[in-house]
Amino acid sequence: MGAMVERNGGEPIDVLVVGAGAAGAVVAARVSEDPNRRVVLLEAGPDHPLASALPADLVDGHDNSYTAHDWGLEYLPVSARADRTDRFPRGRVTGGSTAVNTTIALRGTPADYDGWAALGNPAWAWPNVLEAFKRLERDLDFGDAPYHGDAGPISIRRFSPAELVPTQAAFLEACAAAGHPACADVNAPDAVGAGVMAVNKLGRLRISTAIGYLAAARYRPNLEIRAGATVRRVLFEGRRAVGVELEPTAPNHPGAIPNGTAAAEDGGPTRIRADVVVLCAGAVHTPGVLVRSGIGSAAEMERLGVAAVHVNEGVGAGLQDHPALAVICLAKYPELCATDLPLVQTITRYTAAGSDRPLDVNIELITRARWGGNRHDQHPRAFLLAPSLEQVEGRGRIRQRSLDPAVGPAIEPDFGVHPLDVSRHVRAWRDALALARSEPLAGFVEEVVFPDPARAVTDEDLARLAATVSASGYHPSCTAHLGPPEDPSAVVDQHGRCYGVDGLVVADASIMPFVPRANTNLTSIMIGEMIGERLRREPERYRA
Ligand SMILES: Cc1cc2nc3c(=O)[nH]c(=O)nc-3n(C[C@H](O)[C@H](O)[C@H](O)COP(=O)(O)OP(=O)(O)OC[C@H]3O[C@@H](n4cnc5c(N)ncnc54)[C@H](O)[C@@H]3O)c2cc1C
Repeated sequence: MGAMVERNGGEPIDVLVVGAGAAGAVVAARVSEDPNRRVVLLEAGPDHPLASALPADLVDGHDNSYTAHDWGLEYLPVSARADRTDRFPRGRVTGGSTAVNTTIALRGTPADYDGWAALGNPAWAWPNVLEAFKRLERDLDFGDAPYHGDAGPISIRRFSPAELVPTQAAFLEACAAAGHPACADVNAPDAVGAGVMAVNKLGRLRISTAIGYLAAARYRPNLEIRAGATVRRVLFEGRRAVGVELEPTAPNHPGAIPNGTAAAEDGGPTRIRADVVVLCAGAVHTPGVLVRSGIGSAAEMERLGVAAVHVNEGVGAGLQDHPALAVICLAKYPELCATDLPLVQTITRYTAAGSDRPLDVNIELITRARWGGNRHDQHPRAFLLAPSLEQVEGRGRIRQRSLDPAVGPAIEPDFGVHPLDVSRHVRAWRDALALARSEPLAGFVEEVVFPDPARAVTDEDLARLAATVSASGYHPSCTAHLGPPEDPSAVVDQHGRCYGVDGLVVADASIMPFVPRANTNLTSIMIGEMIGERLRREPERYRA
């Protein structure tokens, strides 16, 4: 049994944040603005404090980083669960997935957050979250608009016409020809139609939360950032969270750093005491930390031999994502798909024909794509159109396979299953096929190779195919969602406070009640802003 240590010069820790990703880095930065609050930020992966020494994969926002700073997870896509897994990248480094992602910086629509509020969570109404969205950004194009910010930590810009890859420019023209209105600012509250993407990168430099928020905050004497620190579980005295227990870093774990967390001097695990613990490990890992701590479904905790602190069947349930399909094209010239080009530059946001859900589809053009050969290999001439379903009915789950944090959970999304999801997605797939075949985009396409025009003819063919090839948009969320006390599936209240215990907060993509109609990075940072600010301004709310 390791002794409970108190970090930060031996002084008591006010707020201990677990996971330095989109939300966690923000929570730590915002709370530590109060010099009288001692904050410790724990991150399982490495930390690269000096921008000048940042590894190339973290610098280059023109491509995702898939392996060098990744958890090495796989997921089981859709119904054909038994025999086909695919990688499920998650950043494992300070900055979390914001440090490895595509840098698409999209807000959800006002109706998304008003929808969260309407479920009994008034704190998340659009006017409130808008303030957080404004606070987080430095919008270099529309910073003077009343619904934008011009002084926040995350720089956001849009590609100029001259910067567009020819296929990306042609995609916008094809969208215009198909009747999609032109959209100058994809982050305006009433944005609809086709336009250049808003991105959080400057040149190629990805502005992760490690750069935007931690670069400045890390010099505060009241903030300690501790990398190579994997949290095994939250510790309780009765029903009160009093700190965390760390996992000794396994040397062969993906992304492990040489001088990882050592055991306490007496040989037991390292334990850190704090007033408030905030879980920001992301929608894939936060459920695992909760279950290992004794908060989760009764059956799962019994199977794993965990003593229950509080049974909550919502933990790990409710998984949502943005399922994506692909229209894969072989380009006429390999130069159009070159590896140094930006991966995504354009988007159209619209409503699928016949759908009663406004703006339920996004189509992005992805400059290069995997095709043929090894499933992780890019084809030198492949690019794709990705119609992604932004409002989904289906809900999957995260299931713990082991108590060992190094063993990834089973990630079981529910893509291509719910009839309403499938019918809308098939229509969007047809829309994307039509765009690939219309000028001027068609002029760059040698051949559409997927879906195979000979085998996928009817809507039924496409629906069957969607059930096996719908892929993750890498936007897992809702696995420990917020909600009012009368909602039995809610894991936390609208302020992120975990039901059934005191002193434990969750603030990351897992608390979304449903996934918003946008890639989830900006919404996750916004969640960090909302809860970080509240933790700093109203500490008594969290000390209960
Ligand atoms: C390859 C890729 C591309 C993407 N592209 C985009 C995009 O272009 N635009 C967009 O909007 N969204 C994108 N996303 C999604 C977006 O990055 C996420 O929605 C967002 O980062 C989620 O934020 P989070 O704080 O919940 O989790 P994360 O940002 O993933 O942060 C979780 C952090 O917790 C750490 N952690 C986990 N478990 C533990 C533990 N036990 N102890 C200590 N630390 C732990 C992790 O290492 C990580 O640093 C992408 C994601 C990936 C992986």
